[in-house]
Amino acid sequence: MNLRDKMQSELASKALLKQAANYGLDYAEHIQQRSVFPTRNAIVNLEEFVEELPATPGDAEQILRDLHNLGSPASVATTSGRYFGFVTGAALPVTLASKWLTDIWDQNSALFLMSPIAAKLEAVTEAWLRELFGLTDQVVASFLSGSSMAIFCGLAAARFRICKNQGWDFNQKGHNGAPEIRIVAGHSAHGSVIKAAALLGFGIDNIEWVDCDDQGRLIASNLPPLDHNTIVLVQAGHVSTGSFDPINEICDTANRAGSWVHIDGAFGLWAGAVNRLSHLTAGLEKAQSWSVDAHKTLNAPYDNGILLCSDREALVNALQISGSYVNFSEHRDGMLYTPEMSRRARITELWAALKYLGRQGIDELVFGLHQRAAQFAQELASADFKVLNEVVFNQVLVGFDWPDATTADFIDQLQKSGECWVGGTKWANKSVVRISVCSWATTAEDVSRSVAAFVDARERVTL
Ligand SMILES: *Cc1c(COP(=O)(O)O)cnc(C)c1O
Repeated sequence: MNLRDKMQSELASKALLKQAANYGLDYAEHIQQRSVFPTRNAIVNLEEFVEELPATPGDAEQILRDLHNLGSPASVATTSGRYFGFVTGAALPVTLASKWLTDIWDQNSALFLMSPIAAKLEAVTEAWLRELFGLTDQVVASFLSGSSMAIFCGLAAARFRICKNQGWDFNQKGHNGAPEIRIVAGHSAHGSVIKAAALLGFGIDNIEWVDCDDQGRLIASNLPPLDHNTIVLVQAGHVSTGSFDPINEICDTANRAGSWVHIDGAFGLWAGAVNRLSHLTAGLEKAQSWSVDAHKTLNAPYDNGILLCSDREALVNALQISGSYVNFSEHRDGMLYTPEMSRRARITELWAALKYLGRQGIDELVFGLHQRAAQFAQELASADFKVLNEVVFNQVLVGFDWPDATTADFIDQLQKSGECWVGGTKWANKSVVRISVCSWATTAEDVSRSVAAFVDARERVTL
């Protein structure tokens, strides 16, 4: 059989896709029982993937079997409800199912002409996001891989606008001789903000750093004098403490000076869509651009990030490419708003998440993460652990009186237990444990069970 016939029969028999679905269902069914992090054995078995590039076509069924038998156990159970590492979202069932279906569509969402369905869902979702965050009709959305890209695009738009206002077309003329742009950021800005500044050629050494308080919040009264050449980076949700910069105050100061404010709200911006938490993001509508992930707090599958920008002209000019074969339509053409041209239709998962949850569901989901983080902090404190931060959102920091080496041992014990997974970070020059409650699946029992694992690990460390 030639290769095309072979593939056509693989599709026609339906066996291959059913096999994948069965593996997926099997994985989901057993996620609660397995170790949160892969066992040592599962990782050792990955060596079986190391082989010569095949010379001839293989067996599709066998490929899937290998992927499931060797790959599934070596995945991290981030969807289990007891994964608290970094800031990692799980996936709402409806978003996974939507992803499965749209994977079969295999759309390219560059243009309306290439995928009317993706274009329509992008337009609908864009409007919903404006409404959720209380933004004006001027605001447009870019649907990207994550916040790193979203921040990059927001800063590219800011650069375009600042230069344009001074008669400098950045696309045509570039850096040499361009107006000098200042970047102002809090000391605890996320690494991806710094990366965006580097990638765009602003230079990390040129960032004007502003002191933060003991929760990592930028101190607004310490801002340097701002002007119309300045981009101010504000953080909504600090990766260690979950704290929020004083957005309202910073935006007022920046707007008076004609500066551009970008809010990095990768996981925290969703607080703005929740009545009981929106005090954390008060004034957010006064910024010029916002980045937020759907794959963290909202629990859409990876990868799913959003940039919102109030200056469509600047954004589109900063990112657009053109070619004679590009047919723009009166509909939404997604590639106008992204650096990529070809792009999978990740919008279906974000749309499905918002359509499924509605305002009430978003409220329940996001406030629920906060409630379980607060429970975590409370139960840890009752068990004589030291919680270092004000748990305003979903992040909990745990500190220790023992040396950093003991903390490393403690984290190792905890991770090896398989009961839950938390990571370490540095806070005030000490090693600490960082807990991020970011999964819809986490129950109150998951939290208590994880606290018990903390107690156990403490008993096992060598003091
Ligand atoms: C996760 C995160 C980022 C980076 O987002 P990606 O989606 O991983 O690219 C940026 N800023 C903050 C505050 C984050 O938590």
